[in-house]
This record gives sequence, structure tokens and C-alpha cells, in this order.
Amino acid sequence: MSKQRKKIAISGFGLTGRLATLALYHDHQLDIYETGNISGEQSAGFVAAAMLAPLAESVLCEQDLAQMGLEAIAMWQRILERLDHPVFFQQAGSLVIAHQQDRGDLVSFRHRLKALNGIKPEIVDSRIADLEPELADRFHQGIFLPCEGQLDNRAFYIASYEQVKDKVRFLEKSADSVCMQAYDYVIDCRGLGAKRDLCGLRGVRGEVVRLYAPEVTLHRPIRLMHPRYPIYIAPKPNHEFVIGATEIESQSNKPITLRSAMELLSSAYTVHRGFAEAEIVDMRAGLRPSLPDNRPLVETKGNHIMINGLYRHGYLLAPKVVDIALSHIN
Ligand SMILES: Cc1cc2nc3c(=O)[nH]c(=O)nc-3n(C[C@H](O)[C@H](O)[C@H](O)COP(=O)(O)OP(=O)(O)OC[C@H]3O[C@@H](n4cnc5c(N)ncnc54)[C@H](O)[C@@H]3O)c2cc1C
Repeated sequence: MSKQRKKIAISGFGLTGRLATLALYHDHQLDIYETGNISGEQSAGFVAAAMLAPLAESVLCEQDLAQMGLEAIAMWQRILERLDHPVFFQQAGSLVIAHQQDRGDLVSFRHRLKALNGIKPEIVDSRIADLEPELADRFHQGIFLPCEGQLDNRAFYIASYEQVKDKVRFLEKSADSVCMQAYDYVIDCRGLGAKRDLCGLRGVRGEVVRLYAPEVTLHRPIRLMHPRYPIYIAPKPNHEFVIGATEIESQSNKPITLRSAMELLSSAYTVHRGFAEAEIVDMRAGLRPSLPDNRPLVETKGNHIMINGLYRHGYLLAPKVVDIALSHIN
């Protein structure tokens, strides 16, 4: 039996708001409230690198979240397949490498990886040339993490908007001042915009650089061991690369600092000399909406369903978390 059509407000059209919209627009009447612009530039999901890295992240998060992330990758594939506009999605694993001086960090990283569904990280010291021929002369030890993926978040933002733009109502204003009693349900996807209502919610600053580097060809995301934070190089279509991301306990949303830009850019250059001639396409900072335990939250109060706390795992976990949240609609 099909569910009755409901009148639903979605507050926030960032990452989780878009996923909720895509899940609901067919069957329900949706009003989307967004304080920024609809292109989403102000949201964390726009800044992100959109890595889907459950194994690598298992070093930093609990087993259940990593497991959830693994399951969410298959969900992403289905979500993107249903969109009329193509969005780059890749699941070709990722390669973790270290410079000689950081070799100890690579060994420690390997020991901290958690087992997920029997998927085994592979030591690929002698196979780097097969996986990433352009890195073989500089790197002789690496770990291959099968099943990891990534997508093009900017393309997803465009495609998700195009998919729903004629089927939902967009209101470019804050959801806070609106009478939510007019709705059967309110799906609260405000990220950091919910700070006043969600105790302990904080921003964790992250910075990324986007490069156009025609002299570099990489087939999958590369994660470089770094003494301060894990640095990854995520190859997007047409020789664009996202280099990220810093992780700083700061609420500042100011532009990227010189130190961070230098760290990210020099790391890229030490991985591949072809980055020397790269064009800097974009540099940005964003704040990851995070709770004290760095775990996602789904909270329901009456007709109000809140999704928040996606921290550094928004792309990794959002399909699952949004699915759990929307299961409360009946
Ligand atoms: C530098 C960086 C790199 C990242 N890399 C990755 C990665 O590789 N993999 C991964 O899994 N995750 C990554 N993330 C994390 C991911 O981007 C976030 O977890 C995710 O975007 C959070 O989604 P959200 O919908 O809760 O918030 P957001 O994406 O921030 O969206 C919130 C939206 O709500 C709107 N809003 C706020 N207040 C109101 C209001 N009152 N009314 C209406 N609208 C409102 C905002 O304008 C915004 O558009 C990264 C984040 C950053 C910053």
C-alpha cells in the first residue's frame, strides 16, 4: 500500500538536505528552506572532498560507523544512477603511501585498521607500479584499501538540484522563523545552522585546495601519511584534483590560511612533480558539523526530525543516516 502524500519542510539544502529531498520528492509535497544560495556553496558538503573511505576512516572512528559507511557506498551508487545528470562516482579502492621518514606512521596506520566484512587491506609495496604507475619511482611501500570510493560532490550538488527543481518549492530564507506546525513533518538538515538548538554542536574546520593538473594521472584517491593530519589527493574528472583536508578544532570560517595552503600544496608536490605546473582552481575552508562524540545524530521530537553531527563522515554515512531518519515518516 502506498504511503499517504505528506506536506514536508526540509530545512537546509546541503548534503543531508539534498539526500532527504531526493528520497522524498516523488511521494510528498516538499518545501525546501535554505539560508544560503541553492547552489550550496556555503555548506560543508560543497567544500568536501567526498571521499568514501570506510577502511581508512576506521582508524579514527568506531567499527559500527565504518561498517555503516561500507554499506552506504552501495546506496550512493543507486542514488546517483537514478539522477538524470551524470555524477562521477568511483569505487576503485584507495592507496595509502608514506615518505621514507613517515614509514613508521604507515605501519601504525596498518595496525589500527579495523576488519570490515572480511575486506582485507593489502600491502602492495611491489605493486605500486601496477596501481599507480606515475608514483612508482618515488614510493616503494603502500597499502591498498579495496572497495573505497569517492564521488564528485560539485556535480552531485548540481544534479540533485536539477532533479528536483520543478517538483519542490524553494524558499531562500531561514527555516527558523517559519511556522513549522503547517507541516506534517520537518526534516532538520541545517548542519551548523542548528547550533542554538543542539547542545555541544561545534564546527571542525577543514581546508581543501582544488587543482587542475594535466600532467598528473592518478587512478584512485591517494592518502599520504602526514604528521599532523591525513592528507589525500582525490582525482576528479578532467585532471582536477582535490587536495585535503586539514582538521582544526576551530570555529573560524575564514579563508584558508597560508600555512594550510602551503602544507597541502607541498604535500601534493612531494607525491607527484607534475603538480608543479598545476593551476589552482579553488581554495576553501568549511566547518564540519560535529557533536562531542563525533558521531551522527538522528533525533525526533513530535513531527521534527533532526539529522546532524556528520563530522568528517558526511559523504561516507549520509545515505544510511538519512535513511534511518526518514524511516520515522509514516
Ligand atoms: C574540508 C572538508 C572536507 C570534507 N571531506 C569529506 C570527505 O571526504 N568525506 C566525507 O564523508 N565527508 C567529508 N566532509 C564532511 C561533510 O561535508 C559533512 O559531514 C556534511 O556536509 C554535513 O552535511 P549537513 O547536511 O549536515 O551540513 P551542510 O552540508 O553544511 O548543509 C547544511 C545546510 O543548511 C543550511 N542552513 C543552515 N541554517 C539554516 C536555516 N536556519 N534555515 C535553512 N537552511 C539553513 C546551510 O546554509 C547549508 O546549506 C568534509 C567536510 C569539510 C568541511
